[in-house]
Amino acid sequence: YFFPNCFKYLILGGGVAAGYAAREFVRRGVKPGELGIISEESVAPYERPALSKGYLFPRNPSRLPQFHVCVGSGGERLDLNWYEEKGIQLILNTKIVKTALKSKTLTSEDGTIFKFGTLIIATGSGVVKLSDFGVKGDQAKNVLYLRDVKDADKVVESMKAKKNGKAVVVGGGYIGLEVGAVLRQNNLNVTMVYPDPWCMRRLFTKEIAEFYERYYTSKGIKLVKETSVIELEADPNGEVKKVKLKNGRELEADIVVVGVGARPVTGLFQGQLEMNKGGIKTDGLFKTSVNDVYAIGDVAWFPMKIYNERRRVEHVDHARKSAMKAVEAIMEQEKVVEVYDYLPYFYSRVFDLSWQFYGDNVGETTVLFGNRNLVVKKPKFGCYWIKDGKIMGAFLEGGDAEENKAIQNLAWNQPKVGDLRELQDKGLSFAFSY
Ligand code: FAD
Repeated sequence: YFFPNCFKYLILGGGVAAGYAAREFVRRGVKPGELGIISEESVAPYERPALSKGYLFPRNPSRLPQFHVCVGSGGERLDLNWYEEKGIQLILNTKIVKTALKSKTLTSEDGTIFKFGTLIIATGSGVVKLSDFGVKGDQAKNVLYLRDVKDADKVVESMKAKKNGKAVVVGGGYIGLEVGAVLRQNNLNVTMVYPDPWCMRRLFTKEIAEFYERYYTSKGIKLVKETSVIELEADPNGEVKKVKLKNGRELEADIVVVGVGARPVTGLFQGQLEMNKGGIKTDGLFKTSVNDVYAIGDVAWFPMKIYNERRRVEHVDHARKSAMKAVEAIMEQEKVVEVYDYLPYFYSRVFDLSWQFYGDNVGETTVLFGNRNLVVKKPKFGCYWIKDGKIMGAFLEGGDAEENKAIQNLAWNQPKVGDLRELQDKGLSFAFSY
């Protein structure tokens, strides 16, 4: 492995999973020169969730190098010096355009060939665009998507250029809700548009969503639900001016930020790896169907042991943990490594709110508890999802570390519940009594 561009271990992708994998390699004794990381981005791996939160704050926004991995989980910050010190080659601004997994080579845009002994695929997700749904006009200036630092810089620039202007946020999921909130904090006049009858429909029940929608409305954000964008109209300068909706309404806009979903970046491996709906099939140690090739983070379609089915998870906690597990498996070849056993964990922070969810939002019924009244200073409420008489998922808004730990414990252990009324009355205290 002493030839140029030839690595014992190579990571393709320079996002969250790549950064946590690098740390784990070092922890497990990788030697200088053995590990390379290839990234299309121009910066070392960072905590991507910051881009729709602290990065866009009107005051004291986070900027790199502050949020390089692994600060998001309370670890050491891995900046460029760290990679250099450890002898890890960080190959930035390099896009891989061709892969030959069986002959163990990757080819970059400029024709450079990289060879590997073991490859970890960590290419993450790419944004779904409005044009993917046939919406016209998303090429207009100030129509923005958010995936990497370059995208986030464009949002910052547009917010500055369109001070106190009108922003339309398309999408009512994580990105839409977080960006909607922070645009408002930047004093823009914000309207959110989404097709569902309530926001975050993939996770929130109607009652949970109702709280956040009331909160957003109280902050002056307008919500336009159950309709979608059909066209974006630009002025003669090519800047977006109008958002046309399916229900016939037209919204004026100086900025449009779109968060309508993401999809795994796996086109490079089509026909070479077993896949499902774009995800790369792995085992419980993140090995793919080709020897010496692993896949982690957003792209992995892995066995989720707790629910006994394969899933893909597009969240940062799994990106971190899958990275560490795969590296453990690679570096401990001779030893038995326990398979990945993961409890889904999602979270978000907007305005002065903060929620966490653990487990699976499935089941025949939900039990809502706590106080969803906006008048109280710090609303605290939650929800349990119950399937076959067992708690499968737990949500908590406004919890502290101990309370969040308690609901995590519930989702992990799936206790049986008898009387739902009693569960509702006990609410969060049930999580502590269990
Ligand atoms: P990524 O972090 O996306 O990294 C992929 C890397 O691969 C990138 O560097 C990319 O440039 C590179 N790459 C791809 N293709 C190539 C190629 N051909 N050649 C070279 N390089 C390539 N999750 C949460 O749980 N909570 C949150 O609050 C949250 N907020 C988010 C906010 C935003 C704005 C975004 C975009 C995501 C958020 N997520 C959040 C999701 C979370 O960030 C992802 O699940 C996580 O980053 C996945 O890690 P990854 O390493 O698999 O992929």
